[in-house]
Amino acid sequence: MQPLLNVDTALANILADMKTLEAETVSLPESHDRVIADDIVSPIDLPPFDNSAMDGYAIRYGDSATADHANPVSLSVAMDILAGSAPDRRLEPGQAARIMTGAPIPAGATAVIPVEDTDDDWSKGEDSPLPAEVRFFRQLDRGENIRRVGENIEAGATIMRAGTVIGPAEVGMLAGIGCPRVDVIRQPKVVILSSGDELVDIYDELRPGKIRDTNGYTLAGLIRQAGGIPIRLPIAKDNLESIRALYRRALEINPDLLISTAGVSVGAADLVKVVMNELGDIDFWRINMRPGKPLAYGTIQGVPFFGLPGNPVSTMVTFEILVKPALAKIAGRPFKRETVKAITAGPLKSDGRRSYNRVILSQEKGRIMAQTTGIQSSGALMSMVKADGLAIIPEGVTALPPGSELNVILLREPDW
Ligand code: AMP
Ligand code: MG
Repeated sequence: MQPLLNVDTALANILADMKTLEAETVSLPESHDRVIADDIVSPIDLPPFDNSAMDGYAIRYGDSATADHANPVSLSVAMDILAGSAPDRRLEPGQAARIMTGAPIPAGATAVIPVEDTDDDWSKGEDSPLPAEVRFFRQLDRGENIRRVGENIEAGATIMRAGTVIGPAEVGMLAGIGCPRVDVIRQPKVVILSSGDELVDIYDELRPGKIRDTNGYTLAGLIRQAGGIPIRLPIAKDNLESIRALYRRALEINPDLLISTAGVSVGAADLVKVVMNELGDIDFWRINMRPGKPLAYGTIQGVPFFGLPGNPVSTMVTFEILVKPALAKIAGRPFKRETVKAITAGPLKSDGRRSYNRVILSQEKGRIMAQTTGIQSSGALMSMVKADGLAIIPEGVTALPPGSELNVILLREPDW
């Protein structure tokens, strides 16, 4: 028997093999949640011109030097500047320009007094008449309420690094610098291969001895979450011809990653192994983890391949631990595992392999408590439906009393 492979060693080997995909160009509206392929440099200053941060009056700040509550300063109103307009005259000493938020500061002006700090009444909104004079009662600092050209970004500055995931702020920023298209990492096409005479699809009748293919669906969800494009093929039967046909079809799609479930253990019908060896260069790993000991890994015609175990929880847990980081690397996505320390609410058992026990998290007196989801059978998919996280029982530990501290991998934001 091959020795059990340590989980961390397996993951390190896998990650060393994975290559990030090339870039493709997409339109800005399509770029949401995609990964930037090259550093982005702004060709322009933002804001592109000095503009007002307030509705009010642009003045020369020196004209406010003597203003206080008892001695207001009065300036003649020489201009009215709306957002989107371009003032064509200089503001002279003794003058003020009525100005709206976002409108360009006229040459000569060095501060903006908000309308609330003047004697002007804008209760009529945009229809308020332009007064001949405006009075105000305080001094202004130089530059007060002026948003300076380039204060947000200077032309030539790197505003986003390669590897950044484009969210709402990034897409807005790219629009701001006038970027209609953006180079992003291509999304990996991931083919899902299920096989088993017992499996039927969701629309089929559940005859005696049959179960529904759940892994095809959970894998599609996991792949999508990891930024890939899942492609689910029809279920193969437990015979060589059917499995060969499925793998040939998978390769015709030109996938970036192949993921199969089932057929990698030692059962009589585990013919997937035979086909993997015919078509590719595959290692069969016995990994020191629970669930998920049998796992196939390698390449088929140059395409990275994972043969995950068939039990639904094993499929999901091996994906989480080994495939998710690999897929993140292929997709060029930053990957960080979210873990918390939690206290076990009851006793936990393991068999000495590194175990990933499904737990529900809660908070008690400032501590995070981990409660088992119940049956930990690798066939019991409900344990994943209930789970907030995977509590890691280290190698060599077979029993943990209540009150033990464990690391828990977060699968979702706990509901506390
Ligand atoms: P195998 O590796 O083929 O021996 O399968 C191990 C267990 O996983 C068996 O109980 C199978 O019925 C189950 N199984 C295999 N593939 C799937 C699947 N796609 N969806 C749900 N259960 C599966
Ligand atoms: Mg099977």
